[in-house]
Amino acid sequence: MSHPKYPHLFEPLDLGFTTLKNRVLMGSMHTGLEEEKNGYERMAAYYGERAKGGVGLIVTGGIAPNRAGWTAPFGSKMTNIKTANKHKEITQAVHDNSGKICMQILHTGRYGYHPLAVAPSRIKSPISPFKPWKLSNMGIKRTIRHFVRAAKLAQHANYDGVEIMGSEGYLINQFVSTKTNKRTDQWGGSFENRIKFPLEIIRQTRAAVGENFIIIFRLSMLDLVDKGNTWEETVYFAKEIEKAGATIINTGIGWHEARIPTIATMVPRAAFSWVTKKMMGEVSIPLITTNRINDPKVAETVLADKHADMVSMARPFLADPEIINKSEQGREDEINTCIACNQACLDHVFEQKTSSCLVNPRACHETILNYTPTKNTKKIAVVGGGPAGLSAATTAAQRGHQVTLFEAQADIGGQFNLAKVIPGKEEFFETIRYFKKQLELTGVQVKLNHKVEKEELIGFDEIIISSGIKPRALKLEGVESEKVLSYEDVLKHKKPVGKRVAIIGAGGIGFDVAEYLTHENSSTSQNVEAFLKEWGVDYNNEVRGGIEGIKPKHEPSPREVYLLQRKETKLGKGLGKTTGWIHRKSLKHKNVKMINGVSYNKIDNQGLHVTIKEKPELLEVDNIIICAGQVSVNNLYEQLKEQSNVHIIGGAKLASKIDAKRAIKEGAELAASL
Ligand code: FAD
Ligand code: NAP
Ligand code: SF4
Repeated sequence: MSHPKYPHLFEPLDLGFTTLKNRVLMGSMHTGLEEEKNGYERMAAYYGERAKGGVGLIVTGGIAPNRAGWTAPFGSKMTNIKTANKHKEITQAVHDNSGKICMQILHTGRYGYHPLAVAPSRIKSPISPFKPWKLSNMGIKRTIRHFVRAAKLAQHANYDGVEIMGSEGYLINQFVSTKTNKRTDQWGGSFENRIKFPLEIIRQTRAAVGENFIIIFRLSMLDLVDKGNTWEETVYFAKEIEKAGATIINTGIGWHEARIPTIATMVPRAAFSWVTKKMMGEVSIPLITTNRINDPKVAETVLADKHADMVSMARPFLADPEIINKSEQGREDEINTCIACNQACLDHVFEQKTSSCLVNPRACHETILNYTPTKNTKKIAVVGGGPAGLSAATTAAQRGHQVTLFEAQADIGGQFNLAKVIPGKEEFFETIRYFKKQLELTGVQVKLNHKVEKEELIGFDEIIISSGIKPRALKLEGVESEKVLSYEDVLKHKKPVGKRVAIIGAGGIGFDVAEYLTHENSSTSQNVEAFLKEWGVDYNNEVRGGIEGIKPKHEPSPREVYLLQRKETKLGKGLGKTTGWIHRKSLKHKNVKMINGVSYNKIDNQGLHVTIKEKPELLEVDNIIICAGQVSVNNLYEQLKEQSNVHIIGGAKLASKIDAKRAIKEGAELAASL
């Protein structure tokens, strides 16, 4: 019987020799666990939990077929039986939980962050310092054999199949595009020659693993780089992939070096499923679509509208391993939604740290951070209902403690209530929705509009202070002028802002305020067509790479904005590695003047007087908005800190560099220990 609410999502997919229980793939993500101590044990727990959560099929993070294909030095590779035997711990955990799992074979080519990197031609990528070595004809044949060997070893390790990574600008993509393949031998030149490398990999893999083994090919359907493929070439290639023996084609959107956002939070949900839809009917094997699908309703619509046969979600499984079971059981309001911030997953990968998740610090730490039921129920007070306090209160209550949460404001969420009003950060609403439901489910007593005084905390066994932060006030002549506003005045109190504005401070909040002031009524994060126009992508995918000759079209900003900082460094340097460039580009689209090396002299009726690189200047602005960092709200803690049962977390503990990732993690870790 079909599922009443999600008939397409929960329809099994018959692959002939095996059946997937639903239409959801957990997409491949590098987590760094592969390289960790006890990595196999940790990966087994991580994937096992996701299998238990009901997903139809899992794809592992990318595993190299040889050393040259490493992501970084000593990255994971599948080259011998000893390694394959270790992987059995992972496949066992998944199979024990009625799941299915494929191993992704990823050869990074010129994206390899090491001196052994190889490519079809000796051309450096703009995102790696290493110039790759050109593969010889023998080298290419050997590499194909290594892909096949990795697949055979995956089969030995009891994987249900493999995914051959052919997109995102990695080695296979590098062979297919004339941008990176300048060869004149049988592996270069014509399109037929350029696709020979991947087709040989699929053919020889199929011959080696037999018929009853899943081979997914991840095909770049929209390159988003110059000299990318045309749609006709992509369709031709897809047909050849089917003929060569692939079981399923997964969609890849954009090379890593593309300068168009494809998965960040300002990208509308399911913004690229139309690309896969264009391929539907061209091949007879199932197609998977991907990118910014983080919710069962969106997934169901994508499938019902025949954009694909299956959806891939990756980060949503970091945020909530149970997303599928919760959807199936009508518990959608309990889903911890991925807000697409990249802060604890992708940014960690680029910083060579183990991945986790901003909204779920247990992700990739399943053997380390556990919320076990308490044997000693305590009365716990949590002061402050921002991300830190919410995380602490719900985790402690989930463990069986009796928790009271005090919040001075009329609603929970703390500074997240300011983040969620920024255009392109609408997903942040979901985290507050999630915590509200968790407070209800775990039985936390919530006292809103309740600013706590010291005396009220007598009688609690444990006191957690999570009173957060407040904007830093500046010492500057004229700062008391009505022209001067704090970011709270603008985002929370909605004070009117004039047409010419200077923002003092260019951290995350300065950038967000600039985004808010320049995108009034023109946010594209909820509208796929407007988003694609803003970033110069052809909605019909009729031009080369989906971008050739398409000029981005921006709505003009309703305001003239200066974004200022004292440091000489590039503005936005401290923003997330995978998202900072998007914020900078987005503000450039709106002609925001980003100026570094500024010193602030005074504010008067004329505006803001500054010195820029030793030259005095007057910025004639109507308003000056202070986004110059924050200070801790810790007065209550100062009064109580001699007591051994008092704890402090989040921004209240340390305002410098506080973000929701640290706040939520500290809350969860403290609550797990009480
Ligand atoms: P807060 O969020 O400040 O919460 C503290 C709470 O305690 C408040 O609700 C306050 O009312 C309450 N309180 C204080 N004193 C008392 C008392 N005596 N009694 C009762 N209640 C009290 N972070 C990210 O990681 N990613 C982002 O993209 C991001 N974007 C942001 C965008 C904006 C515009 C802003 C302003 C912030 C953003 N942040 C972001 C930062 C993030 O929101 C904060 O780091 C986080 O909210 C800090 O959490 P916290 O719980 O420590 O403090
Ligand atoms: P921040 O990143 O520390 O930036 C503060 C800015 O104010 C800096 O540009 C700083 O640069 C300037 N400044 C500091 N002291 C000043 C002073 N006395 N006078 C004038 N300027 C001063 O802090 P934030 O922007 O308030 O953000 C707070 C936290 O929220 C951050 O840690 C961030 O991680 C998080 N956040 C994240 C995102 C995101 O997208 N990931 C978005 C928003 C917020 P100069 O000293 O060079 O002038
Ligand atoms: Fe999603 Fe952010 Fe968690 Fe990554 S860190 S999985 S983007 S919520």
